[in-house]
Amino acid sequence: MHPVYCDVSLPVPIDQPFTYLLPETLRHRVQVGCRVLVPFGKRKLTGIVLRTHDEAPTGAVREVLRLLDEEPALDEDLLKLGRWIAAYYCAPLGQTLRAMTPLSGEVRHGKIYSLTTAGRDVARQLYFGENDEDPATQVLRLLDTRPSSAPYLTRKITSAVAVLRSLEKKGFVEAEDVAAERDPLRAGAARLRVEFAKRAGDLKLPKSERELLSYLELHPGTHRLTEVDKIIAKASVAARSLARRELAKLSLEPVTAGSTPVRGPHLLNPHQQEAFERVRAAVEAKQFQTFLLQGVTGSGKTEIYLRAIEATLAIGRSALMLVPEIALTPAVAGQFHQRFGERVAILHSAFNDSERAQEWRRIRSGEAGVVVATRSGVFAPVRNIGLIVVDEEHDQSYKQQETPRYHGRDVAIVRARDAGAVVVLGSATPSLESRFNAERGKYAYIHLPERIEGRPMPEVKLIDMRTEFQETRKQALFSRALVDAVKERIDNGEQSMLLLNRRGFSSFVACRACGARMECQFCSVTLTYHRRDRRMLCHYCNYSARVPDRCPKCDSDYIQFLGTGSERVEDELHGAFPRARIARLDRDTVGRKRDMESILAGFRDGDYDILVGTQMIAKGHDIHNVTLVGIVSADVGLGLPDFRAAERTFQLLTQAAGRAGRGNTPGIVLIQTINPDHYAIRCAAAQDYDSFYAKEIDFRRLMSYPPYGALANVLVRASSEEEARERSTAMARSLEPAPEGVRVMGPAAAAMVKLKNEYRYQMLLKAATRKRLNEMLGRVREFAAGEKWNPVSLVVDVDPVTLL
Ligand code: ADP
Ligand code: ZN
Ligand code: ZN
Repeated sequence: MHPVYCDVSLPVPIDQPFTYLLPETLRHRVQVGCRVLVPFGKRKLTGIVLRTHDEAPTGAVREVLRLLDEEPALDEDLLKLGRWIAAYYCAPLGQTLRAMTPLSGEVRHGKIYSLTTAGRDVARQLYFGENDEDPATQVLRLLDTRPSSAPYLTRKITSAVAVLRSLEKKGFVEAEDVAAERDPLRAGAARLRVEFAKRAGDLKLPKSERELLSYLELHPGTHRLTEVDKIIAKASVAARSLARRELAKLSLEPVTAGSTPVRGPHLLNPHQQEAFERVRAAVEAKQFQTFLLQGVTGSGKTEIYLRAIEATLAIGRSALMLVPEIALTPAVAGQFHQRFGERVAILHSAFNDSERAQEWRRIRSGEAGVVVATRSGVFAPVRNIGLIVVDEEHDQSYKQQETPRYHGRDVAIVRARDAGAVVVLGSATPSLESRFNAERGKYAYIHLPERIEGRPMPEVKLIDMRTEFQETRKQALFSRALVDAVKERIDNGEQSMLLLNRRGFSSFVACRACGARMECQFCSVTLTYHRRDRRMLCHYCNYSARVPDRCPKCDSDYIQFLGTGSERVEDELHGAFPRARIARLDRDTVGRKRDMESILAGFRDGDYDILVGTQMIAKGHDIHNVTLVGIVSADVGLGLPDFRAAERTFQLLTQAAGRAGRGNTPGIVLIQTINPDHYAIRCAAAQDYDSFYAKEIDFRRLMSYPPYGALANVLVRASSEEEARERSTAMARSLEPAPEGVRVMGPAAAAMVKLKNEYRYQMLLKAATRKRLNEMLGRVREFAAGEKWNPVSLVVDVDPVTLL
């Protein structure tokens, strides 16, 4: 007999499965790990089936509405991994499993808001109005661009929900329920290809579909939908309909690498050869092992990954490579396509849900044996996995900053352990944790001490901006040495990269009369001035406002702009080098992910002399004509109240320096700083990882910070500061006395006490062992449950990468 009920894990903060009745038609089809659509309160939610059974629950039971997968979306191994993540990172299982599945097939519950005719008239008039800080005005303007959901609007304007309600009452806005399932065939037409599958037989087709089908039959192979559209009327609509009838096949065009020159395969040098042999032996042994591959910038780590992946395919297993950001490393994607062709699946962050789902299917079917992906790709349904590479393993973006707050690198290691697979963690500047694990023999250590073909490491000079000021008596953004160096590159036809890790034009807008700084209405941070938009912007909640003519505190009109961001660097460069071709890469110039690729491709092709940017430009690029890297200020980030501030500064500077001199002409790096004696800056200038590590690990040991012991950040959120303080104090008291081997630090106001209109207090738990930490976290959660806190007011961050 088929089971009658199923337990479903839902993406809600309540940490328990819910039982539903299976309609007769689904009983024989549903499997553990499949997604189902179920009613939950007034909503419809997608959940994962954890168990099927015949035990009738007490009380009313509702019915499963729909089965979304014929085959489990999460197989047994991934379900097991999900359970591990939920336990280790203190996250509800439902939200964890939700993060592990691709979005397609998702039912968009909720409403889409759009303007009524009256609303549109009002919105248009507002463009000439003055009152543009008003949230209602901002909502109207956003809706005038396109209909949007409430969550989307809330991300832009914190009070959007309340605003929408009142606009709806006034008749300016109308809401439409969209409970329809997303059509996976709705992928962006630009990248769709279509191909003949089978004849229509007796089926009566509309004219356009008939025409298209016969065209496809006469022209075998796959065709770009945009091309066919030019030949046959309404082809793109017809193609989707044919695909639904399974008469034609739609597929996604692989991401191309743009104008990336493809190099290699190379003959390995002796260091690479040795590294590769060690990894290959482990892969062939099919036994779990983790390698730390520490190779200086330009030592040829990518080539080792490629070879190791080939070796994995050769024994019939699959490989997964994680990268921090695919759009930033199109060159890597290009190399993978060239080497592995159709066997590569790339989970690009610019993909929409259905494109992602399509790649997911190719992976699950085994068609793609090589997967390149960002963080969440660690959950890709790769069959028979034999190797996981984590490139730039030190990168912060591997840590998810919302529930479940997992670390992609660490999850990769657990996944590999359970699958008997090999892990390669690659970096020029490993995280303290990874190097520590290598020192203690937990990871096997591989070192590549030299650049390819004996190229020298770039020469690095520190420029003390305090002396520069004394000598020139000018508060300049660029030192004389940096200006000369840029000029020389331009004259020689070589390229420069200038890094300042801060967006915007001015980092503060302040009143010179009373000293007041313009702050975000919803966060305890100053607003950054963006000159292109002529507005002040909050980098945490996106609140934006016009620069006031008069100080809101004292009414003086001495408003001044302080501090520098990447936008000003670009601006001043234009002033200093009027004929130079300059591009800027930061979150403001790359609205869409694909912009990033085109700016980088342009720079690589020599369309620009100078590339200015934030940390985005420091990552992994291999551009041979870059012979100068300038760090405009090495001090940004150094003073942050975070135990990883030094580590992050060292990594950023070393990685940025590593972009210089990767071709035949040696490169130089100029680092401007007012802290030339700080060890993070000195060690980065000397490109001396070992000295940095020795110094930093002492500090961590002394302070019991990771990698020593286990750390968790416990954050309490509330709508007022008093409430946040009181709640966190009560929680801390409930943990007293702390058991041996555990220290509770705080509670104290978080560095940003107010964020997105919520007040935050935090407490650090430092424990000698993981077991101890978990016991404490258990007590934390019990306390919150006992006090009946709303689940979202407690945030537990295990192994935090930042305390801000
Ligand atoms: P890393 O990731 O270690 O900074 P890359 O993998 O980007 O370094 O390699 C640096 C450059 O050296 C690339 O242009 C790559 O194509 C080239 N390269 C790699 N291995 C070899 C080799 N054995 N011989 C010649 N060039 C190589
Ligand atoms: Zn003032
Ligand atoms: Zn804000």
